Amino acid sequence: MDKRWRKIIFSAFYWLLGLLVIFGLPQLWINMQTRELSYSDFKDMLARERIIEVRLEKEDIKGILFNGPRKDIGRLREKLQRMEQEALASRGFYNKPRQPSLQDVLKKLRKIKEYRNQIVLFHTVRVNDPKLVEELDAKGVEYSGEKQGMFSEIFWGTIIPILFWVGLWFLLIKGMRQPGAGLLSIGKSKAKVAMEKDTGVRFNDVAGCEEAKEELKEVVEFLKQPQKFERLGAKIPKGVLLLGPPGTGKTLLARALAGEAEVPFFSISGSEFVEMFVGVGAARVRDLFNQAKQNAPCIIFIDEIDAIGKFRGGMVSGGHEEREQTLNQLLVEMDGFEPNIGVILLAATNRPEVLDPALLRPGRFDRQVVLDAPDVQGREAILKVHARGKPLAPDVDLRSIALRTPGFSGADLANIMNEAALLAAKKGADQITQDHLEEAVEKVFAGPERKSRRLGKNERKRVAYHESGHALVAFHSPNAAPVAKISIIPRGKAALGYTLQLPQEERYLMTKSELLDKIRVSLGGRAAEDVVLGELSSGAENDLEVATEMAKSMILRFGMSDKIGPVALARERSPYLKIPGMQEQPESMSPELAAEVDKEVRRILSEQYQRAKEIIEAHREALDLVAEKLLVEEIMSAEEFRNLVKDR
Ligand code: ADP
Ligand code: MG
Ligand code: ZN
Repeated sequence: MDKRWRKIIFSAFYWLLGLLVIFGLPQLWINMQTRELSYSDFKDMLARERIIEVRLEKEDIKGILFNGPRKDIGRLREKLQRMEQEALASRGFYNKPRQPSLQDVLKKLRKIKEYRNQIVLFHTVRVNDPKLVEELDAKGVEYSGEKQGMFSEIFWGTIIPILFWVGLWFLLIKGMRQPGAGLLSIGKSKAKVAMEKDTGVRFNDVAGCEEAKEELKEVVEFLKQPQKFERLGAKIPKGVLLLGPPGTGKTLLARALAGEAEVPFFSISGSEFVEMFVGVGAARVRDLFNQAKQNAPCIIFIDEIDAIGKFRGGMVSGGHEEREQTLNQLLVEMDGFEPNIGVILLAATNRPEVLDPALLRPGRFDRQVVLDAPDVQGREAILKVHARGKPLAPDVDLRSIALRTPGFSGADLANIMNEAALLAAKKGADQITQDHLEEAVEKVFAGPERKSRRLGKNERKRVAYHESGHALVAFHSPNAAPVAKISIIPRGKAALGYTLQLPQEERYLMTKSELLDKIRVSLGGRAAEDVVLGELSSGAENDLEVATEMAKSMILRFGMSDKIGPVALARERSPYLKIPGMQEQPESMSPELAAEVDKEVRRILSEQYQRAKEIIEAHREALDLVAEKLLVEEIMSAEEFRNLVKDR
């Protein structure tokens, strides 16, 4: 069947569907209104003079019955007779007197408001009862014979079945031609369960998470030699949950695990489960597990499991039927297989705090592996992994790149390596140099340079002084990280310029004086604008936010204020340490205490701002020099900067 034919069949199908809707629905409506009576009930009604009119068909009796007070039935009969006379006077379609249909009669009778709800259509199956006509006569019931309506007979007897079979056939054909696309294969997974015989990734492609790899090695062993574990009766975890911020290599590690164990890898992403039709997700889960069981030993990987495994109940407002069914099916499947058949379930999420606790119960995802942002060693190792197959110049020092990228994830680092290679290619170099790498760091860090964003003369001057202010305050703050670079080239979305500070080494703790210095440096830009230009600008908004946040943390989290004392009034929200499904309780604080905290925050900020201004006023000459040079050259290295401000 070629495309054209499919189109024709398709539109024919829809035409027929349209006809069905137009003609079928009224019929359906009538059927719904009609009361089904047994023949004996009918006779009973007849005896009690409840029946107003009947139409006798070959096999059916249809008619109208009245449920109201007996004395009123005479009124209805009168009305009926009048209608009949009217009908005789009117002319039907074929110029013959037309008998009004039962529906018409019903409609007219119902115009008598008081009885509206007591006048009902009924239907009963006719049985062999030769006395019926006599009885009808005796009770004065209007009756007439009727051939079953041609149209409705044809419609229900012929067209509908044909439509049904044509439709079914059509769907089947469609389903066969495109596996998984037909309506009938909804329950089948839409081939989205990706099966990879070999992922092609090994553990040595993943760097900087040695602990996680160590934990997963056991799983690899098991998949390779299950007998070894079975013999000793050791229990293998059924499910392993990989937790960590985005880009830390969860997906990569799962693939590496399958690759290392040399088993097939079945993967599906949680978001793919969230489908339109209720029940599809659950069917897919079933499918996934069935396929996997047939291919054991293997790994099932559910990426971004939070999309289905969200905490049930809570504040969620209805409409989550689908996800719940999917989750339930997942739980059922997990409980339903023994790990000894060689299927291991892996899942990854960066939002463990929303996971349903049921998922984490023993026997389900009872093992959890946390992947954190890599430390300096980890970053260097990741850079090395991604430097494979790229020609590096001899001057490249990956350690120094690792040092200047605290907080970067594996994905960011992979990106840096790639950007550096692109830059080198763009510049026609045949090796990647340290300069390329450093530029790539900045690009990933602050967004690409925006040379086209031309600032006016006054704005450039303001930005230059602002950045010089940051740098100068940093230089004169003994506990601040040294300045590594200043730039007034607009970058990324918002930054008009920036001052890069780099610590000498990876830091895990910060002392109070370091924090205070950091606040002071953040306020340095604004202080310089204030001192030099005598007016503030909106450019310091982000600096202010950072400084305020830091001051608050000092008081609320680190207990570093003498006035408030050593209390933790807020906690850092680290999702990786929280109990899943638990609602976070805000720490309680009396209004007096809150007011005092506010005062303390303000005190810290204004003190540091004052000190920043003092530094700038004391070294005004140096500030001017730096700003002027920046206006010409736009970028200043650490060395140049130090030479300019050293003794001034
Ligand atoms: P996640 O699933 O945690 O969000 P991914 O596994 O998708 O992160 O990581 C994205 C990319 O980042 C990977 O394809 C890989 O190139 C790189 N990457 C992340 N972490 C690492 C790592 N530890 N070692 C090597 N490359 C990594
Ligand atoms: Mg991922
Ligand atoms: Zn600033």
